[in-house]
Amino acid sequence: MGSRMLFRAVIMGPPGSGKGTISERIVKLFALQHLSSGDLLRVNIQKKTEIGLVAKSYIDQGQLVPDDVITKLILQELNNMGSNHWLLDGFPRTVPQAKALDNVQQIDTVIDLNVPFETIRDRLTARWIHSSSGRVYNTEFNPPKVKGIDDLTGEPLIQREDDKPETVTKRLKAYEALTRPVLEYYRDKGVLKTFSGTETNKIWPHVQAFLLTKLPDVRKE
Ligand code: AMP
Repeated sequence: MGSRMLFRAVIMGPPGSGKGTISERIVKLFALQHLSSGDLLRVNIQKKTEIGLVAKSYIDQGQLVPDDVITKLILQELNNMGSNHWLLDGFPRTVPQAKALDNVQQIDTVIDLNVPFETIRDRLTARWIHSSSGRVYNTEFNPPKVKGIDDLTGEPLIQREDDKPETVTKRLKAYEALTRPVLEYYRDKGVLKTFSGTETNKIWPHVQAFLLTKLPDVRKE
């Protein structure tokens, strides 16, 4: 693989599919630049930028941010990318977004994490947060000592607005309606690679093996 080789990948999967964890592992192992639309939006929300203020109202309701807003933000970031090898995470989420991306960059590989919705719903609604410290608990893997209470301060825990059961259901429905067609779009282009399972640790070795065949030369030392 020569130095002019480009690797432009997208990772897709419903919210809570382990996409964040798998992406982290990919960028730890391979010299790829990682761009997460969710992270980018959260930075904008924190900084209270104009885009952040618009995005927050949609995100809190479990809705997608409008295509024109997110597309502009992501294409701008891609333009500023220093690397030829990158991994887009969370974008595109609709067919218009995928087409807008196609107009500026050809995607070589789409990693699709196919995790059953039942598994995802259980996972997402298990997350509880202590808002002032940011401490995160999980009622299944890392429960607080007392249900609903922060271990250190004794203060009540909250659920992220988008982790509440009714919001999670909305997000999964949006995924079905808007993002499933993106998978079909990429399948038709012959770039879709699907990985199915219920556990991130079992899906990961397959993703890793696949990327090693695609990217033997951009492995980190
Ligand atoms: P994530 O962390 O990827 O789940 O993103 C959090 C939220 O940001 C999502 O629930 C959406 O409301 C919004 N978001 C992230 N990426 C996109 C996108 N490509 N299109 C529309 N909304 C997005």
